[in-house]
Amino acid sequence: MPNHRAWEVAIVGGGPAGLTAGLQLARAGYRAVLLERAGLGGQARWLGRIENYPGFPRGVDGGSLMSRWVRQARTWGLRTARADVRAVARTSGGFSLRLASGRVLRACAVVYCPGAGFNDLGLRGEGRFRGRGLLHAVSGSVADWRGRTVAVAGGGEAAAHQALALARQARRVHLLCRGERIKAHRLLLRRLRGEPRIALMRGVEVRGLQGGRRLQALDLSAPGGRLRLPVDALFVLVGKSAAPLPFPSRRLPPGFFVAGDASGEPFRQVVVAAGEGMKAAMRCAAFLERRA
Ligand SMILES: Cc1cc2nc3c(=O)[nH]c(=O)nc-3n(C[C@H](O)[C@H](O)[C@H](O)COP(=O)(O)OP(=O)(O)OC[C@H]3O[C@@H](n4cnc5c(N)ncnc54)[C@H](O)[C@@H]3O)c2cc1C
Repeated sequence: MPNHRAWEVAIVGGGPAGLTAGLQLARAGYRAVLLERAGLGGQARWLGRIENYPGFPRGVDGGSLMSRWVRQARTWGLRTARADVRAVARTSGGFSLRLASGRVLRACAVVYCPGAGFNDLGLRGEGRFRGRGLLHAVSGSVADWRGRTVAVAGGGEAAAHQALALARQARRVHLLCRGERIKAHRLLLRRLRGEPRIALMRGVEVRGLQGGRRLQALDLSAPGGRLRLPVDALFVLVGKSAAPLPFPSRRLPPGFFVAGDASGEPFRQVVVAAGEGMKAAMRCAAFLERRA
């Protein structure tokens, strides 16, 4: 990481919100560093095709879209670093950010965009299978699931998207919906109905996970009784929770701005996160000017 006395602004999280904030602040001439613990582009880089991001009549692959954002932000001077931010605290000059490496970074302002985490099913033994057949999202190519039998647990748009993406490669996708219907917009519902590889199971709940080193089967409670479903993987998309904030949300200190999925915004979309990142950056710039 570049060694600076203190940054004017540190951005936490390199998804659509953080990259937009970083682009705007760097372009406006502020000394800005963006800290990302996993991979630049956030969750959006794993989305196979984004069809509702304006400017791309045929949709755009999430990975290619996000790498353009990274290039653009860097072109304008945004510094990025691989770092896991463990704690943010106030100091007399602004904020200190403690990284997992033990290093402490100082900044006058913080734009906080760590996104939202996927909820777990809350089953015993869930940790044992994590990454071994139990996943939240496709991290890598859906082609890895070619010819496999997979299940997706969830009843919302994210689950519907995931099931459709997997159905392009998997042999069978069981979409396990606890309620009576999938809550998604009409186009997605039409696509689900028209995809012969997706088997929608309604009123079904995952009660247990079976396997040895990897997940091999699910115990389900279904309207007809209990059943065991052999699977190669289960994708859990039963909602998300915004990452916890380091300060009480109603009393954010001056100079601390939150954007994107982390803000608790119920409409979690790339374009919304980008818009929020831009607003946070502009508020942050105004704050830095008042302080100067
Ligand atoms: C299956 C699925 C399908 C979707 N489909 C669409 C769609 O079609 N269209 C659309 O617009 N949106 C879609 N979305 C939603 C979209 O991906 C998100 O709304 C968007 O990525 C949110 O951006 P963000 O920057 O707020 O957070 P994220 O993209 O989650 O980025 C947050 C980043 O912060 C990093 N981070 C977290 N904590 C720390 C820390 N402590 N230190 C350093 N870095 C940290 C993370 O590693 C991550 O890279 C979909 C989501 C899912 C799950």
